[in-house]
Amino acid sequence: MIPYGKHYIDEDDIDAVVEVLKSDWLTTGPCVEAFEKAISDYVRAPYAIAVSNGTAALHCAMHAIDIGPGDEVIVPAITFVATANCISYLGGKPVFADVDPENLLIDVKKVEEKITSRTKAIIAVDYAGHPCDYHPLRKICTKHGLNLISDACHALGARYHGEPIGSIADLTVFSFHPVKHITTGEGGMVVTARKDFADKMKRFRNHGINSDFRQRERQGSWHYEMVELGYNYRICDIQCALGLSQIKKLSNFLKRRRNIAIHYLEAFYGNDFIIPQSVAPNVEHAYHLFVVRLNSKRTKKSRREIFQLMREKQIGVNVHYMPVHLQAYYRKLLGTGHGDCPVAEHVYKEILSLPIYPTMTMDQINIVIDAICNTLNEP
Ligand SMILES: *Cc1c(COP(=O)(O)O)cnc(C)c1O
Repeated sequence: MIPYGKHYIDEDDIDAVVEVLKSDWLTTGPCVEAFEKAISDYVRAPYAIAVSNGTAALHCAMHAIDIGPGDEVIVPAITFVATANCISYLGGKPVFADVDPENLLIDVKKVEEKITSRTKAIIAVDYAGHPCDYHPLRKICTKHGLNLISDACHALGARYHGEPIGSIADLTVFSFHPVKHITTGEGGMVVTARKDFADKMKRFRNHGINSDFRQRERQGSWHYEMVELGYNYRICDIQCALGLSQIKKLSNFLKRRRNIAIHYLEAFYGNDFIIPQSVAPNVEHAYHLFVVRLNSKRTKKSRREIFQLMREKQIGVNVHYMPVHLQAYYRKLLGTGHGDCPVAEHVYKEILSLPIYPTMTMDQINIVIDAICNTLNEP
């Protein structure tokens, strides 16, 4: 089976982890800070807070901007459920905005009509690794006094108008799950230029314990103060050692992903059955996913059949994602359902993620291209 995504671990990664296992630090130690510094430098954001996973990072971000009961946060209908769940954790309400049919990102034209007096923020998702249109989103946020959050779990290494993702939104979230660009096993990071947000998130990941008091504790005092309710969202040194070793390979990973995407784009050029996610000028796509739409007007087979036939051919295609407003939990909680985001609901029936990962070979790329083209052409 050719999977849709796969991590890459080499001997250097293994050595880096083993070295930590032999050291005095297993959990929060020097590697956590060093990994934070490496990400903060890479994405050009002054503060980086590493946590146990990307979902925890989103939760921290929502806490930083004080989301609570009654608050609304606008999210795209097509994303991973965690983008909406982080709002619900704090009693807030995700409000689903429709997506653009060409690039499947939050449709900027549909955002403003979702704003109410309770709206506090927008979470833009750089779906598949394609940066959102941040300039108009920022304008809307400034006009209505909202925070702009970026769920960039797909987009480490992407750029918008030359600026790295991580340096644009008020808070940007990354994930280091094994299918993402670099991995720590499980892990996540929030980056920001705001010191107040950074301080708040550092407390939140450590039970709400004031870090000033932790510093005092290091200086010999037993006293610490829990000033608010937090969680144990710490990431450990073992994980961050892996992250530090992985980030050295990030530019090569990105190059490989972009090369694979170029091969797919060339192969599907002029094919009316397969429409790849359109790419805006002025962005550098990070290609976490390679998403195509199967033109339902032309193909005689449904996406379900095509998915099944590809799986039978040992191609690990996938679907990212079922619109979140159609999930059972949100239907029940918020009364959302069919008709709320018609574009998302329509494109959902057409989307397919093709395999893309750094170690994918030319042979494997050609096998996938032949398989999808043949599947669509066969009667
Ligand atoms: C992976 C992902 C997350 C969550 O990250 P975890 O590290 O798995 O918790 C959140 N949002 C999006 C868009 C993701 O792809």
